[in-house]
Amino acid sequence: RAKSSIATDFCFYEEEMDQTVRARRRIATELRDALDHDQFAIHWQVQASVETGEITGYEALLRWTKPDGTNVSPFEFITIAEQTGLILPIGEWVLRRACQEAAAWPLPWKIAVNLSPVQLGHVDLPRLVHQILIETGLAPTRLELEITESAMITDPERTTHVLRQLKALGVSIAMDDFGTGYSSLSTLRSFPFDKIKLDRSFMTELDIAPQSAAIIRAVLALGESLAIPILAEGVETSSQLEFLRAEGCNEAQGYLLGRPGLMKPEEDVGEPGSSKHAA
Ligand code: C2E
Ligand code: MG
Ligand code: MG
Ligand code: MG
Repeated sequence: RAKSSIATDFCFYEEEMDQTVRARRRIATELRDALDHDQFAIHWQVQASVETGEITGYEALLRWTKPDGTNVSPFEFITIAEQTGLILPIGEWVLRRACQEAAAWPLPWKIAVNLSPVQLGHVDLPRLVHQILIETGLAPTRLELEITESAMITDPERTTHVLRQLKALGVSIAMDDFGTGYSSLSTLRSFPFDKIKLDRSFMTELDIAPQSAAIIRAVLALGESLAIPILAEGVETSSQLEFLRAEGCNEAQGYLLGRPGLMKPEEDVGEPGSSKHAA
């Protein structure tokens, strides 16, 4: 090509756009199928007390295995599911399935289920949660719902109203990925969260950026003065766990304690898949 023109550049751009749109449409169609054909599963990741190593609960993480055997990360499909509204039936599946599985466990561990802002904006969420608790027989105190800051930003009044209704059922509410949004502190003012999950990025940078240690300490102090327990996400090394222990962090979750895996109810040792957790 001698020189590019606006017209040809635009054509390339359009073609790229077209491919992205097509890829999204394909994933949306496949997602619809996935629900009908049992391609979803829940993998559980252990959460433990930093001080004692005791199991405090398990987080339910959605897994999608396509018929050809490929695993698709939630990062790749949750957004598309949200944009297409498919997150409503998928989210309902996760809630029901997580409660069903947990109700059959030999020990009554707490479970944490992720909620999309789209689900929070849906009129009937408290009624749905109530119905699923009754249907599965799971004690409401065993269920914790995780929401991210973005849900509080879109429509804070509506969200806090829904969260209050959920809390009235006896379930607890955790703030997920704390510290990554742009209004972290004000979200804490608008609702009494039962737990704050400090985003994994602070753990990742603990060894390389000295600021991270200072920020973690500040969040722990904040949790203490607000009387909200702090869980550190993404704990991968024992030196990170040691740091958290020295600083008085309440709970931890991460590959060091256990990778997400299937929970087999007959193995009452409390270990999902082949993972291990802190002694
Ligand atoms: P999240 O809720 O913050 O979940 C934690 C993510 O970090 C999980 O990724 C988990 O596998 C990963 N992780 C845990 N420990 C470590 C570690 O030590 N190192 C590293 N590098 N990663 C660790 P996953 O399962 O891929 O999920 C990604 C995100 O997708 C979740 O982030 C959550 O926002 C979303 N998600 C997963 N399941 C659901 C669901 O059922 N509903 C909704 N709405 N979102 C979900
Ligand atoms: Mg989560
Ligand atoms: Mg998280
Ligand atoms: Mg995270």
